[in-house]
Amino acid sequence: MTYCPKCGKSLPDDATVCSACGATFDPIPDPDLIFDPPQNNQKTKKTKSSSKSPEVRTAFQKWAHDQGMFCLIAKAVAVTVMVFYLLTAIVSVISLIANGNATGGAVFSTFFLDVLAGIVYGVIIWLLSDAVLYLQKLYEMKKEETKKQ
Ligand SMILES: [Zn+2]
Repeated sequence: MTYCPKCGKSLPDDATVCSACGATFDPIPDPDLIFDPPQNNQKTKKTKSSSKSPEVRTAFQKWAHDQGMFCLIAKAVAVTVMVFYLLTAIVSVISLIANGNATGGAVFSTFFLDVLAGIVYGVIIWLLSDAVLYLQKLYEMKKEETKKQ
């Protein structure tokens, strides 16, 4: 027994046209008879479990798109500067150890100052690019406002 998807009248299983309202439809297959291979099952499970990562990816893509080329490069520079200073800090500490001057205070201050400098420069560049982005949006909004008037 199957039912018309339009009016709900009960119809024979193989019916493709409703005898009451005349709607045409594909006969609804018996769920027990649908062949569901295990490979397909795994695929559905996989897409379900990783359903979060495409969202994160599109969110990042949207963020990157909103940045525009200039601000994206500026942010890449900011991250590069931070990584560069972190590497410099590590190299400085290694050279201190190699020269036998690796007292706790010297290691800490060398490492800390380099990392701090990297964070400060990186954040300044990052914030400047955000400021540029903000001004760009403000400018575009003003331009649209003057267009409307
Ligand atoms: Zn019908």
